[in-house]
Amino acid sequence: MDIPASMAGSFGEMRHHHFHSGIDLRSQGKTGQIVRAMADGDLRRIVIKPGGFGWALYLEHPSGHTSVYAHLSEFKQAWMDHAMAYAKRNHRYVIDIPVTKGKFPIKAGDIIGLSGNSGGSGGPHLHVEWRDSQTEEPLNPLTYGLVVNDKVQPAIRGLYAKSTEGAWQLHRPGKDNQLASELILTSWQDLALDVTDHMESGGRPLGIQRITLQVGESMQTLHIQRFAFHQSRGVDALMHMDVQMKKGRRCYRIVPFALKDGQQPADIWEGRGSLPTQGKHHFTLTVEDAHGNRSTLHGDVQLKPLTSARLTHDYRLPGSLQQGSMKVSFPAHSFTHSPSLSLRKGDKQWQWSLSSTAPVLKPFTYTWTVSKEWTEPLDKTLLIVTDFRGNQSRLVGRLLTDGRLQFRSKQWGHMQLSVDTTAPTIRWIQRQGSLATLHLADNRLDIQSMTVTVNGQWVWAYHDAKNQRLLVSDLPESGELVVVAEDEAGNATTFRHSF
Ligand SMILES: [Zn+2]
Repeated sequence: MDIPASMAGSFGEMRHHHFHSGIDLRSQGKTGQIVRAMADGDLRRIVIKPGGFGWALYLEHPSGHTSVYAHLSEFKQAWMDHAMAYAKRNHRYVIDIPVTKGKFPIKAGDIIGLSGNSGGSGGPHLHVEWRDSQTEEPLNPLTYGLVVNDKVQPAIRGLYAKSTEGAWQLHRPGKDNQLASELILTSWQDLALDVTDHMESGGRPLGIQRITLQVGESMQTLHIQRFAFHQSRGVDALMHMDVQMKKGRRCYRIVPFALKDGQQPADIWEGRGSLPTQGKHHFTLTVEDAHGNRSTLHGDVQLKPLTSARLTHDYRLPGSLQQGSMKVSFPAHSFTHSPSLSLRKGDKQWQWSLSSTAPVLKPFTYTWTVSKEWTEPLDKTLLIVTDFRGNQSRLVGRLLTDGRLQFRSKQWGHMQLSVDTTAPTIRWIQRQGSLATLHLADNRLDIQSMTVTVNGQWVWAYHDAKNQRLLVSDLPESGELVVVAEDEAGNATTFRHSF
């Protein structure tokens, strides 16, 4: 962009159930900033969708990398024309098309579009990624030439330690970055580091890139340098869920779960020499951001391992739990370690709760044996799962041939059967020139499909799901607009407007 680079989000930052796969650049609070190609290359993919990246462009570079620019508001005209020609030919509203190499070459610094706030973006900004073209693994754009000024070192707020009674206590660094008192722990997994990084004072806190734990000859490093998208769920293994739940702080686990077969939820930990499991030790923690700014913390620890373990499910095997008519099945390696699990019947009918704090890597399957008392239509029956933070996901069931209903989810939490028989609402808002704005939303689910016609002819429209808007461009002087929209449970609305 043609404005000083300022970051609102860093690479590898711990987000809800995923690592942030790029960096977020501020656009001075507005949309429409000029976006330029990071290097010479070719346009290889164009995306326009209601959520996620919204309007996005993918450029491939001769260095073997791909740059991604997301949440845009406009594309370079020739590229937009190409996307619209595809949309009209195929009657598609959601666009995700590959572009042949050589069709649209681009030079470093050429304008490719304008910044925006499209898709799942929570405010105007530019999300930039730098990927390995072969594996599609995202890399840190800052280590590949994108320059952002950063002289601020990470701020260590303290180290949470779980006492032998199970309570979390924050230990703040004192003189010489040394902890005042010795920590008594059952294992290294009972430590959670509370650290944030800033680029400038007062800015939004960013993620860090490297944490090193040194104990004698042993050195354990957490390095968020690259990850595969399927490993992104591994953030749940890095973030200390227990501290998040009890203290409301997003902390880093500095030692991975003890995985017996050496498997890791994400390739971000590296160990040299094994950590001691008992006795008194001195340790040094070093935290580094993407620009090499560092902070350290020293402390003493006394390890007293537990002799007996709780009864848990062996994470390497598939398993299942049943409570009344609800059964939960999970495949082998669903979790980063062997968790203790419980499935309970709720107080009200059609309620259950599944609880654990173990990070979930693979979705589990809920199978509900349909009860006679449930008189709602099965094809409109949902399972609403509310996790411990209050985030809800609504799962539409799949009817099995034996009459049972199945739902898939990765969330722990409270479950409730519900039903959605309400179709999406569509309303005319206004017309400005050739652009019509309508309200399009569903009461509980996502819009699964839609068709927009003007005078019987298919027309392209953009569904801005976040703002519940449907934007129809190139409207003629007069005619009839018809919108048909269907939610995930198959409830459909037909809307007509003459203008
Ligand atoms: Zn982003």
